[in-house]
Amino acid sequence: MKKIISVILLLTVTIAWAQNKTIIRCGKFVDVKKGTILNNINIVIVGDRIESVTDKKVTVGKNDTFLDLSTKTVMPGLIDMHVHLEHETNPKQYLEEFTLNEADIAYRSVGYAEKTLLTGFTTVRDLGGTNVNISLRRAINADLVKGPRVFTAGKSIASTGGHADPTNGYRSDLMGNPGPESGVANGVDECVKAVRQRYKDGSDLIKITASGGVLSVAKSGENSQFTIEEIRAIVSTANDYGFKVAAHCHGEEAMKRAVIGGVHSIEHGTYMSEEVMQLMKEHGTYLVPTVTAGKAVGQFAKIPNYYPEIVVPKALAIGPKIQNTFERAYKYGVKIAFGTDAGVFAHGDNWREFIYMHEVGMPFMEILKTATLNASDLLGQSENLGAIEKGKLADIIAVDGDPTKDIEVMGKVTFVMKSGKVYKNE
Ligand SMILES: [Zn+2]
Repeated sequence: MKKIISVILLLTVTIAWAQNKTIIRCGKFVDVKKGTILNNINIVIVGDRIESVTDKKVTVGKNDTFLDLSTKTVMPGLIDMHVHLEHETNPKQYLEEFTLNEADIAYRSVGYAEKTLLTGFTTVRDLGGTNVNISLRRAINADLVKGPRVFTAGKSIASTGGHADPTNGYRSDLMGNPGPESGVANGVDECVKAVRQRYKDGSDLIKITASGGVLSVAKSGENSQFTIEEIRAIVSTANDYGFKVAAHCHGEEAMKRAVIGGVHSIEHGTYMSEEVMQLMKEHGTYLVPTVTAGKAVGQFAKIPNYYPEIVVPKALAIGPKIQNTFERAYKYGVKIAFGTDAGVFAHGDNWREFIYMHEVGMPFMEILKTATLNASDLLGQSENLGAIEKGKLADIIAVDGDPTKDIEVMGKVTFVMKSGKVYKNE
């Protein structure tokens, strides 16, 4: 009897062990680490991870799934390091702060998340909104909502009247005096508290607005909004909690303080001087360019009444400069991680960043690297994400055609797999 039981046990264990596989046959396979395209590669996936990548023949078992992508170019899932999944630009956006409940924001974000995933972005970094995006991340992880893997800052941290102060531009009796809980912090102690509050909320990282910004109802799009002491306090507290820090910056002085203060990425970076680029190289700071957002705000600002009056001159001055900033930083050798600021323009158009980066001389393979290997490095997720190789999560996309010859094909992703699950196969 004992023997029979142990045989049954052994059988059960063996059956559970021999999990079904998914085998993908790739026509062209982008090896993002080597920067080359290989032919006739097979990817074997077990559960949510890649078991092997091989040019040898793979036998497909009776219970395995076979996906024939032999007419496509297969590459790692894309990572956008700067999105806002709760929001999408529209002429009524400034009124929505007073009309939308958190549930309205949540339902709306579901569609944006799905669109982002289905256009090939299997991972995003959400750089600030309400705490709805933390709930969205949980819903996606629980497979209740279709969306990319989310790493979120939760609420951004600003100083009073700063770019991410949630009551900027309000009537005085509505303005109140938001504090660290709402992401507004002044002085070292409040900055420490604001970071700890994000930990309590369930954020994955910290976003600060180190300079003025374009879309806030405030005069300057570039002034410094934190002291170096405040930035240092934020970064060192963030380090205590394993958070990386992303700093929104347009102005030169704010960027200097942020880089010296130890942030991990500069977002936008519009008025970046060579001195800042040099500092970024020395500190290993990434630039997340967001050219697509720059182009978009420059265009929306020309539509009468699309933005409040105070925003228009900032959008016209800053927006069109961002592509040139990216070009200068790239040519100087600053590390780049792909990011678009989607939400400032329509979700699903994130791929346009490929076009704008390509326009100023970055080859496709290098752009793809910024959206895979570099992005996963900046996320601190290099073990799990950024390449199609043994042991990594099975985040895989495909396009028809060859993006090294026609970059526009990046706008027509026809296959999307995230964590081994297929979300699109056309
Ligand atoms: Zn942003």
